Amino acid sequence: MSERDDEHVTGAVQCLPWCTNGTGHLTAAEPEEQHCHSQPRRIDLGPMPAHLGRPPGHLVLQLYRDVYRSRGSAEVNFAPPDVEIYPSGTEELKLSVAQARALAAVLVELCDAAEA
Ligand SMILES: [Zn+2]
Repeated sequence: MSERDDEHVTGAVQCLPWCTNGTGHLTAAEPEEQHCHSQPRRIDLGPMPAHLGRPPGHLVLQLYRDVYRSRGSAEVNFAPPDVEIYPSGTEELKLSVAQARALAAVLVELCDAAEA
């Protein structure tokens, strides 16, 4: 197989259950575009306190699984799923599932302390 062939989609990938595509991304131009992502979830943060001088913000969260092919190989490789957090359209914060669970646990702990 030539190197150029490695850069083209040669078949469907197995989508994860939460993928919005669900059909294996056969229309992707390159294997790297065959990533799975969930439906984005949005959390509106509302107006910030006036003394901070920042406009209202939001978070967009989604699951993402990267897919790639090793150079010179037709074999598809899958990265473990990540949780991506986009704060108000800025660069994403990419967390592993374990890191996202740790963040969630800390957030719940802080919220419990605040409401105690
Ligand atoms: Zn998919």
